[in-house]
Amino acid sequence: MRHAGHIVALVHQKMAQVIEPGISTKELDSIAYNIIRENKATPSFLGYNGFPASICASVNHEVVHGIPREDVILDKGDIISVDVGATYGGFIGDSAWTYPVGKVTPELQRLLCVTEEALFCAIKQMRAGNVLDDVSSAVEIVAKREKLGIVRQYGGHGVGRRMHEDPFLFNYKVGDKTQLKAGYTIAIEPMLNLGGDDVEVMPDKWTVCTVDQKASAHFEHTVLVTDGEPLILTQLEVKG
Ligand code: MG
Ligand code: MG
Repeated sequence: MRHAGHIVALVHQKMAQVIEPGISTKELDSIAYNIIRENKATPSFLGYNGFPASICASVNHEVVHGIPREDVILDKGDIISVDVGATYGGFIGDSAWTYPVGKVTPELQRLLCVTEEALFCAIKQMRAGNVLDDVSSAVEIVAKREKLGIVRQYGGHGVGRRMHEDPFLFNYKVGDKTQLKAGYTIAIEPMLNLGGDDVEVMPDKWTVCTVDQKASAHFEHTVLVTDGEPLILTQLEVKG
């Protein structure tokens, strides 16, 4: 899983370099596919429940599960969430990041910063003996402090040999007292909105958008609970 996560991190490293005005989300998908294949892994999303691509590319008010398209060309001031999974040796890494396209408004910049902060506050709670609610609460506290909407219908999940394993992880407190144990691997993925909480699925049956059309951000890491500090699996492996 550590190496699957490394490959996912390689994709994000490249996304950060190539995302700029004028590139299509389909091009981003091809770049991600090639990096995954060159590293002897397979794109976990491709064909998952019929999904047609290696990344989910969700622009502005799209929250998650956007399908990469040739005719979706990024423009200055957009934000784009890229979600990617790689399977290596039978194990999966899953991570999403939301990128600014060129210079974005201070309001959008705040949305990105706060959603990333919510992810890292949640990761800090991934300790043996804590409960799932501690992780969920961490996201909710940051979102509420900044008066951002919280996507309710989607959330984090266990991940390992399959992409979506138990438990489901809400991005707000629900009273789940399931205890975390060393060895658990969970994808934590806050999705926060500039407007209200509500989202809806588009007629393409994949793309999830905010109902009020306000922008949404999504940050995700796959994280391992250890006997000590939580370990982020979807980051670059340090050599040596
Ligand atoms: Mg993901
Ligand atoms: Mg996920």
